[in-house]
Amino acid sequence: MAKYTVPANGAKIGYKDGKIQVPDNPIVPYFPGDGTGPDIWKATKIVLDGAVELAYKGKKKIAWMEVYAGLSALKAYDKDTVLPQETLDAFKEYRVGLKGPLTTPAGSFKFVCLDCAAELMDRPANCPKCKSEWITPRFRSVNVGLRQKLDLYACVRPVRWFTGVPCPVKSPEKFNIVIFRENTEDIYAGIEFEWGTAEQKQVYEFITKTMKKNIPFPDSGIGIKPISKTGSQRLARMAIKYAIDHKKPSVTLVHKGNIQKFTEGAFRDWGYEVAVTEFREHVVTEAELWDKLDGKMPAGKVLIKDRIADQTFQQFLLRPDEYSVIATTNLNGDYLSDAAVAQVGGLGIGPGANIGDGCAIFEATHGTAPKYTNKDMVNPGSLILSGVMMLEHMGWQEAADLIVKGLEKTIAAKTVTYDFERQMPGATKIKCSEFGAAIVKNMGGAAVAA
Ligand code: NAD
Repeated sequence: MAKYTVPANGAKIGYKDGKIQVPDNPIVPYFPGDGTGPDIWKATKIVLDGAVELAYKGKKKIAWMEVYAGLSALKAYDKDTVLPQETLDAFKEYRVGLKGPLTTPAGSFKFVCLDCAAELMDRPANCPKCKSEWITPRFRSVNVGLRQKLDLYACVRPVRWFTGVPCPVKSPEKFNIVIFRENTEDIYAGIEFEWGTAEQKQVYEFITKTMKKNIPFPDSGIGIKPISKTGSQRLARMAIKYAIDHKKPSVTLVHKGNIQKFTEGAFRDWGYEVAVTEFREHVVTEAELWDKLDGKMPAGKVLIKDRIADQTFQQFLLRPDEYSVIATTNLNGDYLSDAAVAQVGGLGIGPGANIGDGCAIFEATHGTAPKYTNKDMVNPGSLILSGVMMLEHMGWQEAADLIVKGLEKTIAAKTVTYDFERQMPGATKIKCSEFGAAIVKNMGGAAVAA
């Protein structure tokens, strides 16, 4: 017997010819997450249900289905299971899901408190910091586990500014970029050999003696990062298809190919190959633009260009309006997407999704912010906007647009959570739940009963 309950009033999302088929009452698995997750989830649900009701007048409705991961899984299953197989199966079967943040222990301790994230060397009955009984052995990231086990190979982060959001740059309105970051290989599939181990010695000997390559010092930790043609091309394919479908002007392949030719450089070459072999009618490469078209971009086509990663950071600050869709490798994308979202106001307002073929999970990009747990204080903007991405992915654009309108109005009225309020002169500080309610009111709707 599954621990979760399938809603009787819902239907499964289907999949045909590479596209999801969404019924009017789709079952959507979700979990609120740890720490502040339940607070932001409550605000998000009110906003999503309110927008769907307002847009479709009862014709469409999401049938939410709670599944378990992190602390909620420990409570529902047993004290050592943080990512149950049933949860993975549910996301796979129902194809579209929404998730809150989860605790990920890091460091050399042995146990972690899932309530306050205290890192412990032994396993007391109750956490010495917060008295919680939910203490579990250290585990690898549940987020990474979900992405890898469901092969959600693209991490998608749309980054734009909302008028009035405090941010560190002069012209944040110029920033409107969707980043597609490869989610399964590069350093996510990296293999490392620790200095001083027999394995490191063996690898060092192989590289220096058999392969005759130079490693400057023998006391080196050694890392290997695989980047494949398959992984690079499916990521580039998704980014280019997105640009064509959404009438975006360009896709930029971001890499460090000037230094690493067979991984980073190959990523760039494989991206161009997909563009010209699979999307020939729709794209123009930057070389073609100057060699054949005298720099004049034909209307309706997508420009495919590439840039070195470090230069891209500069360009994001100096000329962000020259970029639209980015396709990049795992590590470059990691830094780039957090830096990008900082430019427009920080993680509290940055949405994200992990997308594969026929399965997608939308998620807040920030962590559990444990010190604010149960305080109804943090900004639910990231999870709400991830919900907007989810509605767009389902083709429910009208509801998605209503939420963006409601959010814009709420921020313009300077009624915001503490993180924005402390940087916005004249703003009124409201709670996480009040922020959700204000968005519903500002889009012209009413709260929908649970
Ligand atoms: P964090 O994102 O939780 O917090 C970083 C800073 O941002 C803190 O100052 C916090 O108060 C603030 N913040 C975060 N979310 C906010 C919000 N919605 N509104 C306003 N302010 C917000 O990162 P952390 O403290 O490094 O990590 C805490 C835990 O979360 C760790 O266990 C970490 O592994 C985990 N984590 C999970 C995810 C995820 O589930 N996707 C992502 C990052 C970190």
